Amino acid sequence: MAPTPWDRHTPSSLASLQDHAVAAQVRDSVAPFSPLWRRRFSELNRRASTVNSVAALESIPAMGERDVSPTGDPVGMAALVLQASEAGFALYASGPSLRRAMRLRIMRKEAYQRVVDADTRSTSYVFSGSGMRYPIASTRADLDTIARAGARLWAVLGLTRNDVLLSGVQPAATTEHVALEYAAMGAGAPALFPGSRPEELAAAARLAPPTVLALPSARAADVLERVRGLTTLRTLLLVGAPSDAERLAATHAAHRAVGAGDIAVLAVHAPSGARVLWGECRESAGKSGLHAYPDLDVLQVVDPETGEHTTAGGELVTTQVGMRGSALLRWRTGDVVSGVTTAPCPSCRRVVPRAEGLARNALVGGVGPDGEVIDLRAVASALSARLDVRDWRIVVGRRGRDGRSRVIVRLAPDGEDTAGAVIGAAADIRALAGTLPTQIVLADPYELQGVQGHHHSARIVAE
Ligand SMILES: [Zn+2]
Repeated sequence: MAPTPWDRHTPSSLASLQDHAVAAQVRDSVAPFSPLWRRRFSELNRRASTVNSVAALESIPAMGERDVSPTGDPVGMAALVLQASEAGFALYASGPSLRRAMRLRIMRKEAYQRVVDADTRSTSYVFSGSGMRYPIASTRADLDTIARAGARLWAVLGLTRNDVLLSGVQPAATTEHVALEYAAMGAGAPALFPGSRPEELAAAARLAPPTVLALPSARAADVLERVRGLTTLRTLLLVGAPSDAERLAATHAAHRAVGAGDIAVLAVHAPSGARVLWGECRESAGKSGLHAYPDLDVLQVVDPETGEHTTAGGELVTTQVGMRGSALLRWRTGDVVSGVTTAPCPSCRRVVPRAEGLARNALVGGVGPDGEVIDLRAVASALSARLDVRDWRIVVGRRGRDGRSRVIVRLAPDGEDTAGAVIGAAADIRALAGTLPTQIVLADPYELQGVQGHHHSARIVAE
């Protein structure tokens, strides 16, 4: 019997595939090779073998950058890298690669070593993170997986090997750049990565007229205004899930750039910690969310304030299965989604995990002139723990005068000592989040009920 193509499962075969993938990832990679997770399982008083399904994952507290590295030191995040060994390989490798290695071991010692290394040794790193930059490791076998995921991405985006990619994503060790490189390679499509400056992109476009242009969402409209000679363009990829305003501005600029031609504007996105890019399907024109991979990603949602599992909107939590370099189990991405689903896509009919209504990096806010960031989840936990604060809101937005981002905490004290409540809250926020919000202001409880905006949770609001 031919195996089911990756995107043609039934909802029930997808569910059982994901249950098996979770059990195998915890049993063969995370439990044996992650000291971090061994410690955590023991703190939770859980045997790793009980984490054997998607539903069982829900009972594991989600974990994020601040949990692994409370001081904000990226070195602490190195604990996510799995520490495998040659002995471990023989015990935990998948059947086919183990059999191949054993055959080679008898005949050619150094070829055996290459197979073992491909499966166990981290050979490349990308730097990821919403609050800090930290390394995510991949083995050579992981890179093959990333290339295969790239070929799938190409199909979801409705592209072929005849498409020519021009990338305006800064060539660096980031998931976005590496995943685009591997996607073009996996699909066998020509690609140029000249850098992010408009003049470099224009020069590359003259050399090889692109049909696909990839640009960071935040800068896409601006770059498109400044690059001429894009009349062959048929697809614009917005890298990093765009806001509605970014998508609209980029779409207008793209239509001006191509003139009379037709152009599809689609988002690709890698949440913090992920090693693959998810894409919007061409059939949906961006309306049915980001398509992930059933055998690589398990998507779940937690309440950003409490970290509790929820079936409603909230913070996107990912578990990466089928890869060996780093252990990301119930990883809090800092992105907010309106929901996740494995229902068939109404546009392309693929049955894959999808993230809908994703707001990138919504739980990390900018404070101060130097681009310093504050983790809103840490602010929320500081405020919830204070007995002298009756209610509060965290309001993120931009200052009208110069568009600089800001985070304002509005709190209603419980009791007479209002100054004490503000000072106490400020001290706790600084201790937990590492820095202060732009402002902490007093409010009365009725006023807080009326705070308008887009709710990321009950108390975290975007203006
Ligand atoms: Zn679709």
